[in-house]
Amino acid sequence: MRWRGEDQRRSDNVEDRRGISPGGIAAGGGIGTVIIVVIALLLGGDPQKLLQQLANNPPPGAAGPGPGGPRGAPRGAPNPAEEELKDFVRVVLADTEDVWLSLFQKMGKTYEEPKLVLFRRAVDSACGFTSAAVGPFYCPGDAKVYIDLSFYEELKRKYHAPGEFAQAYVIAHEIGHHVQNQLGISNKVHALRSRASETESNALSVRLELQADFLAGVWAHHAQKMKGIIEPGDIDSALRAASAIGDDNLQRQARGYVVPESFTHGSAEQRTRWFKKGFQTGDIREGDTFKTDQL
Ligand SMILES: [Zn+2]
Repeated sequence: MRWRGEDQRRSDNVEDRRGISPGGIAAGGGIGTVIIVVIALLLGGDPQKLLQQLANNPPPGAAGPGPGGPRGAPRGAPNPAEEELKDFVRVVLADTEDVWLSLFQKMGKTYEEPKLVLFRRAVDSACGFTSAAVGPFYCPGDAKVYIDLSFYEELKRKYHAPGEFAQAYVIAHEIGHHVQNQLGISNKVHALRSRASETESNALSVRLELQADFLAGVWAHHAQKMKGIIEPGDIDSALRAASAIGDDNLQRQARGYVVPESFTHGSAEQRTRWFKKGFQTGDIREGDTFKTDQL
């Protein structure tokens, strides 16, 4: 994927919370530090001095290395590989802004740019306290995308979907959920799901997810037209990611067999097919996954 050049715009909508623990205390602080300061006060020590020592030499647990961070480095310290990944995320986010601003304008609507939050391990959002274990997600309540950058390592190693465009696809899919939110689709589906049986509710979730894949494809189509970002192999790389995180593959990996009724995201074949349809047509009207009988 072509993104490194200075001519590529970087988005200012990235909110970096990697150095902040979900409680709002800066990483490296936390309860452990508070207890040590209290003990220092009780023993008549100088908490200021102790804090300084702590900063240079954090106790175990207070400031472990971040995912992908060098061992022994304080959590939140810049790590060149991760900083490059952040730069990459800013470029892709800017690409989604440019494409969706223009497509919304053509529909006579206003696209409100979402924030993208970088976090480590766990995060607090309008959707509650969430562990990074669930993977990247979009929260309609605060209109923000949440990503722990270590997911990209997982995408490579655990899901065998390497490549920058696979990483871009992950963002484009979450932004697809934001587009659904802006178009009022998420609300409608949410209302329907609250009245549906579990099986029906799962089926609605699949339709919502496949539409987000379709919208990721629509983004790729227009990003290519506007900026020529796609290089040979890129689309295959995105398709590999869509397929790897299809429910059938995830279930096979987790329990060795597949239960289609329990799908909430769609199969590998469905996910790649809808992404491709979006990429080929570039036409948002072609992506009504709620009307079609053929998912
Ligand atoms: Zn999704």
